[in-house]
Amino acid sequence: MAHHHFHPTDDQRTIISSLRQFLKDRVEPGAAERDQTSEFPFDIVRELGEMGIMGAQTPEEYGGSGLDTKTFAMIIEEVAAVDGSLCLTVASHNSLCQGHILIGGTEEQKRKYLPDLASAKKLGAWGLTEPGSGSDSGGMHSNAKEQPDGSWILNGSKNFITQGSVAGTYVVLARTDPAREGKNKNDGISAFVFNKDDVKGFSIGRKEDKLGLRSSDTAQLIFEDIHLPADALLGERGNAFKDVMKVLDGGRVGIAAMGLGLGRGAYEYAARYTLERKQFGKPIAYNQNISFRLADIDTKLEAARLLIQKAAALKDAGENFTVPVARAKLYATVVGVEACDEAIQMLGGYGYIKEYPVERMWRDNRLTRIGEGTDEVQRMVISRDILKRYAQD
Ligand SMILES: Cc1cc2nc3c(=O)[nH]c(=O)nc-3n(C[C@H](O)[C@H](O)[C@H](O)COP(=O)(O)OP(=O)(O)OC[C@H]3O[C@@H](n4cnc5c(N)ncnc54)[C@H](O)[C@@H]3O)c2cc1C
Repeated sequence: MAHHHFHPTDDQRTIISSLRQFLKDRVEPGAAERDQTSEFPFDIVRELGEMGIMGAQTPEEYGGSGLDTKTFAMIIEEVAAVDGSLCLTVASHNSLCQGHILIGGTEEQKRKYLPDLASAKKLGAWGLTEPGSGSDSGGMHSNAKEQPDGSWILNGSKNFITQGSVAGTYVVLARTDPAREGKNKNDGISAFVFNKDDVKGFSIGRKEDKLGLRSSDTAQLIFEDIHLPADALLGERGNAFKDVMKVLDGGRVGIAAMGLGLGRGAYEYAARYTLERKQFGKPIAYNQNISFRLADIDTKLEAARLLIQKAAALKDAGENFTVPVARAKLYATVVGVEACDEAIQMLGGYGYIKEYPVERMWRDNRLTRIGEGTDEVQRMVISRDILKRYAQD
């Protein structure tokens, strides 16, 4: 495993080497074309389901692979190094929809939804963001009203939802209790889980035309008087926001690893390219300006990998990892995007041309600094903790 991951276990070696083979044979050949056509790779996703990658962290009793977070981060890095769009599909399907059911679900809900998600028989989507609420996700307007028989009527809309138009299972957040005066506005939010085929009043709005991640599906969801049974409520009524924060902490491990993986893919391409490309009578890599920049990128990506592995290890140990994962996500995505940008520069004009993969990697990676909490939101998490710590002195 060359320059990544010190001391991988035998299991991790086996998983990563078979995944690499699959990515090389089945994913890499069509990645550039899918970027052009925006076609969603249903077949590849199904095959990843058979390999256990789509339920990586879901326990085996619910049909998943029961892997730890450290291994999950390694998997995500590998997928990202080859195909960013596919990586977002894998990361979100695992961490968000399944992640929320694992955190908030009852035994019945887990048994009902997880096996089909873990095998990718159904894809999962997770709807938090709305047109009017992004970073301030608690400012949502979607609402669900409880009926006398305990069932719910859901109304509203969601924006930018990954797998929005291709999913079978949806977890969505809605206000069930009005924000009370003087109370935190994040109170009164509840989560609901349902299969698309089981409800009426659900429709898909605009499918987004994006800068990158073009074969990942991003769509608007529209809820018009969706009638949900009482047992669609996921977690405690009115208290879903604390589960949302946990889901996002887990999700950020994946997005950090995605930022790293895309950066690594571009950097590896650039390293090989600069050894081949001759100008002024020698490979451009032998200009110290190029080799030193490769050295800086190599060092930053390795630092990112260690931050990610630390956050993952804390999560696996059941400890609070909110700040460590915010650091990992902030750093890995910034240096990951920087690596892609540097790769474009090192390829010169060819870096700007679609025949070479680095411009796609840069476009794909730009999202990692935005999704599941922007750079600025990570800085809010980190700085809030710093100020709290030093204010106590
Ligand atoms: C491709 C894609 C996939 C996505 N998938 C999903 C999904 O599956 N599910 C889902 O729920 N959401 C999803 N999202 C939504 C994503 O999480 C949000 O876009 C993101 O959280 C930012 O919210 P926003 O776009 O409303 O930006 P805004 O919150 O409006 O932010 C705009 C800018 O202002 C900055 N800003 C905001 N508040 C502050 C502040 N207090 N201090 C300093 N700066 C601030 C932000 O950092 C940002 O730079 C997806 C988005 C995209 C583009």
